[in-house]
Amino acid sequence: MTARVLVVDDIPANVKLLEARLSAEYFDVITASCGAEAIEICQRGECDIVLLDVMMPDMDGFEVCRRLKGDVKTHFLPVVMVTALDHPSDRVKGLEAGADDFLTKPVSDVVLIARVRSLTRLKMMTDELRMRALTTQEIGLASREGEAIADKGMGGRVLLVDDRASSYERLAPVLANEHHVDVETDAAQSVFIAADGNYDLIIVSLSLENYDALRLCSQIRSLERTRGLPILAITEEDNNARMLRGLEIGVNDYLMRPVDKNELLARARTQIRKRRYSDHLRDNMQASIEMAITDALTGLHNRRYMESHLQKLAEQAVLRGKPLALMVLDIDFFKSINDTYGHDAGDDVLREFATRIRKSVRGIDLACRFGGEEFVVVMPETDMAVGTIVAERLRKAIAGDPFTIEKGTRKIEVTISIGLATLDAATGSVSDVLKRADQALYRAKRDGRNRVVPAAAA
Ligand code: GH3
Ligand code: MG
Ligand code: MG
Repeated sequence: MTARVLVVDDIPANVKLLEARLSAEYFDVITASCGAEAIEICQRGECDIVLLDVMMPDMDGFEVCRRLKGDVKTHFLPVVMVTALDHPSDRVKGLEAGADDFLTKPVSDVVLIARVRSLTRLKMMTDELRMRALTTQEIGLASREGEAIADKGMGGRVLLVDDRASSYERLAPVLANEHHVDVETDAAQSVFIAADGNYDLIIVSLSLENYDALRLCSQIRSLERTRGLPILAITEEDNNARMLRGLEIGVNDYLMRPVDKNELLARARTQIRKRRYSDHLRDNMQASIEMAITDALTGLHNRRYMESHLQKLAEQAVLRGKPLALMVLDIDFFKSINDTYGHDAGDDVLREFATRIRKSVRGIDLACRFGGEEFVVVMPETDMAVGTIVAERLRKAIAGDPFTIEKGTRKIEVTISIGLATLDAATGSVSDVLKRADQALYRAKRDGRNRVVPAAAA
């Protein structure tokens, strides 16, 4: 899928120029001649990235950028300021408005395409996560997008990799004004330190004396534990080739020496803010995944999870020639607990039952709430003899110890019935083992409850 680039400039010739270059690289180009129009296009969700002229008559680029970045509907759009001003203080102003990058007029083709590519690639990756997070948020399950974008990117943990004292002795104290900074002079070591250190940002000098700095950047990108760590590279002079190589490898942003202190701080904040935002998306995602597979009342896995996971456990058992036992547990006369003491008391019993199940099974066993007051425990590498011992132990753990209800003021006797079956190795059929366990449970109920009944082999 190709990205839609919005080019904003009040001078038609400038728009045409950028449009031609981007179209030649197969980007879809939309144009706007003033800030207000640009904001409307962005709010309608019609573009993936914005190239924004700074000097415009009605509303300048800084203000447009500030508005886009301050609105939950548009804050995630990458904004590249295109400017004839090339003074660190202008860049700082842009970064403070939330800009993701700068291109200086006249814009170099390679740099333009490289930046647009790398920023849109990043955006495509977060779009999917964002959509899911928003859905989770709508049903009230995740922290709010607004709080996440209000973060200023201060107080981060920064690792500075630089082996020249004259350089890091100058940079580290600047960063320390706003962040916790560690300096690492041994680049070979820094990958491990980055992996263990829980950093928000790594700043790498591209002119390391004893190590290939781009190699270090690529190692950081490929290691599982540092893959999401933003990299800010410091280049020696206007070295486009090396900078482009860096962007390809996955460097997120770069600074040119001599480093302007305010620009360093502004770029570090921008990267840290982005990092925290993607962490926020990932956490929401994690929460929604957990919720989709967890029973809210008891915290055990739900039926959906159990059914898909049981399939895998059964396949594994057949493959390895190991037995697998499954029990279906059902609380006896649960309806009368509800009827006598109320629904809340019933819920207390369900929660406590789940806790006792959790305590009496092993880590590799899979316990879940199958529905209502019915639970299932899957026990890999367990035959009928051992399964019976576990089931009997669990039955006693329930019947032998009354349940507390009504906030600890009352204790009631609870018993359970258990049907137990083992997987038929010949078929490995999940529905068969569930069905036989269920039939055994039915017999346990019929034979007087508070008992374990093993099913006949298939
Ligand atoms: P048996 O010994 O034959 O299993 O009888 P029972 O009363 O336990 O079984 P029955 O299936 O007749 O009733 C189950 C009850 O469980 C009915 C339903 O309202 C109640 N129930 C289901 N889910 C919940 C829940 O989440 N909380 C509470 N408090 N009750 C629930
Ligand atoms: Mg019951
Ligand atoms: Mg029932």
